[in-house]
Amino acid sequence: MSADERIAVVTGANRGIGREVACQLGRRGFSVVLGSRDPIAGERAAADLAGDGLAVRAQRLDVTDTGTVEALAWELADRYGRLDVLINNAAIHYDTWQRASAADLSIVAQAWDTNLMGPWRMCLALLPLLRRGQHRRIVNVSSESGSLASMGAGTPAYSVTKAALNALTRILAAELRTDGILVNAVCPGWVATDMGGPGGRPVADGAASVLWAVDLPDDGPTGGFFRDGQPLPW
Ligand code: NAP
Repeated sequence: MSADERIAVVTGANRGIGREVACQLGRRGFSVVLGSRDPIAGERAAADLAGDGLAVRAQRLDVTDTGTVEALAWELADRYGRLDVLINNAAIHYDTWQRASAADLSIVAQAWDTNLMGPWRMCLALLPLLRRGQHRRIVNVSSESGSLASMGAGTPAYSVTKAALNALTRILAAELRTDGILVNAVCPGWVATDMGGPGGRPVADGAASVLWAVDLPDDGPTGGFFRDGQPLPW
């Protein structure tokens, strides 16, 4: 591995925005670890991207499973000895079908474990490696649904967990500022994926919104909430 090679991990990267983020990172010359809870889907996505000449490798990774998160940390330590960029992309339950006033709390708990605790778990496991990286970035893929400023009825599990992810982003950014690790929350916009459904913008545009927070200079913003490089209200 060359000293200036950059290493990135993307969670939930077997499809949707995560897969496209892995692709765009690969095109920038990153060595990309493509996290997928389904190993077969992960291998398939990584093989497609590697077939286009990108340095992409699949890793079984369920962000709700501490065992797989720790196994990833061991693998990274063994192979590279560091990490430069962490993209916390995996999320579930855009729960348009329910209301907070009649919510199924088991759905809320699943969303909480994936959308908030997943990124938190990833940060805890990978921070020792990030501290040894270069041009370090943590990008939490959030949503304007988590903005308190515009929050109204509906999508309660999703909106509450994304608001909590935004809070975690601010706290981590403040704590990691002196380490020089930039931590930002990014909304990809409404994107035509399995989660977003038809009608949204292309995945390439959603992923580009995420990559903006990777491309920031080392003295760039931290602890912010952005879409397409523009600040969003909390
Ligand atoms: P998606 O098409 O539903 O893909 C979600 C990805 O997350 C899949 O790869 C899925 O894996 C993975 N995942 C779910 N639970 C996981 C777990 N426990 N461990 C590891 N991976 C897991 O969603 P998307 O539209 O690409 O969304 C990506 C991100 O953008 C999410 O954070 C989402 O909240 C955010 N976002 C999306 C939109 C939109 O319009 N699409 C708008 C705002 C924000 P499986 O294939 O195994 O299910």
